Amino acid sequence: MSIFQCEKCGCAENTACSMFHCRNSERLMHKLDLGKKLCSACVSGTFASGEPNKYGKWHNRFKRTYLPKGEFITNDQGNIEHIKSGLIGNEAYKKYGSDTEINK
Ligand SMILES: [Zn+2]
Repeated sequence: MSIFQCEKCGCAENTACSMFHCRNSERLMHKLDLGKKLCSACVSGTFASGEPNKYGKWHNRFKRTYLPKGEFITNDQGNIEHIKSGLIGNEAYKKYGSDTEINK
């Protein structure tokens, strides 16, 4: 399990709580979402077949923390890391995190 930054809203998400691992599956993903690293809320609530899935909303397994888009990577330990400062995980959330989407 790793933490990544959602490409659409910028929040920090766990790969196990989203469709991260099937993002390249044409069978499961809508064309619009294909290949994208999306959080559980930003990915479609239906599979490509139209069948409903459990996504399309935040999972509430942990708090949704929004981070400035494009400024974070998943490091070798699977943690979210701020590229410029090197701050990791909770330290990065403290400094850059927000409860609302950060529009830049
Ligand atoms: Zn998102």
